[in-house]
Amino acid sequence: MIKRIGVLTSGGDSPGMNAAIRAIVRSALARGLEVVAIEDGYKGMVEGRMWQMNSRSVSDIILKGGTILGTARLPEFKDRIVRAAAIRNLEENGVEAVVVIGGDGTYRGAQALTDMGINCIGLPGTIDNDVSSSDYTIGFDTALNTVIQNIDKLRDTSSSHHRCSVVEVMGNRCGDLAVFAGISCGAEMIITPERGYDEAAVLAKLKYFDEVRKKRHAIVVISEKITDVNALANKISESTSFSGRATVLGHIQRGGSPTAFDRVLATRMGDKAVELLLNGIGGHCIGMLKNEIISMPIAEALALPRRSREELLALHERLI
Ligand code: ADP
Repeated sequence: MIKRIGVLTSGGDSPGMNAAIRAIVRSALARGLEVVAIEDGYKGMVEGRMWQMNSRSVSDIILKGGTILGTARLPEFKDRIVRAAAIRNLEENGVEAVVVIGGDGTYRGAQALTDMGINCIGLPGTIDNDVSSSDYTIGFDTALNTVIQNIDKLRDTSSSHHRCSVVEVMGNRCGDLAVFAGISCGAEMIITPERGYDEAAVLAKLKYFDEVRKKRHAIVVISEKITDVNALANKISESTSFSGRATVLGHIQRGGSPTAFDRVLATRMGDKAVELLLNGIGGHCIGMLKNEIISMPIAEALALPRRSREELLALHERLI
């Protein structure tokens, strides 16, 4: 039986990571395990920055955005020699297994460590919802709510000024934030990486909303990394009577106190991760599928196809 586990957050931060850390620590302590905090993801593991936690270490963090452990990216972790150094540090600190919270890159690191003898369990912590082994990732719901609060505000002013607001949201090549935000806000158009981008078609549709439907305003929600949204807004001004304006929401989407949904999700997932480690399981990740907390091998999770949102997008279009 293991006695001591580590916990870290890695990759991009997301609201609810702290709620997950709290659940992992308290669940482990309740089951007689000791917990070691590893700072700044795999970087802190390699540099030996770790300290023992107690129940008080996670007091008052359930409501806090970000991650108290810090996060970092360390591309060198793909190198076996670098991981071997990390494992020596874990052994020196008596850490026998680790829970990692992050996205698919973090999962790959967890698999690689498990292959070298340290059981790791991954929790999906990212605002992008780009991990197919879970219907929802920790932080997505909070980010979505931040996005819709901002788009609702843009709608007020867009309506007054006959504007077309082009709103760029995050997603890291996954369209979920755009799709769910677009539906929540009744946006005129949703542009996602999965659907692809056809500028002429976008402009033609906006012309139709302007000239035929006589809409007072239009909101276009677009995922990041698709096109230059300022250039698109200029083209909208040129080819319709809307005044095109681009808004890039940026990192505000990553912040804020997690929603109840994210806190409950993080809590349920954290507890499940500890249970798996106690059962001697490693190289798995936790997900929520159809409201059940599940686990599956990381290799299987990483091989899952991207979810299609065609049905949701078709529903959205019927209502515009
Ligand atoms: P995310 O976990 O949010 O997808 P990254 O892709 O940046 O974020 O991954 C986080 C970290 O996980 C990387 O900086 C690196 O330390 C580690 N990592 C990513 N891919 C691998 C891999 N193939 N092998 C080992 N470690 C990896």
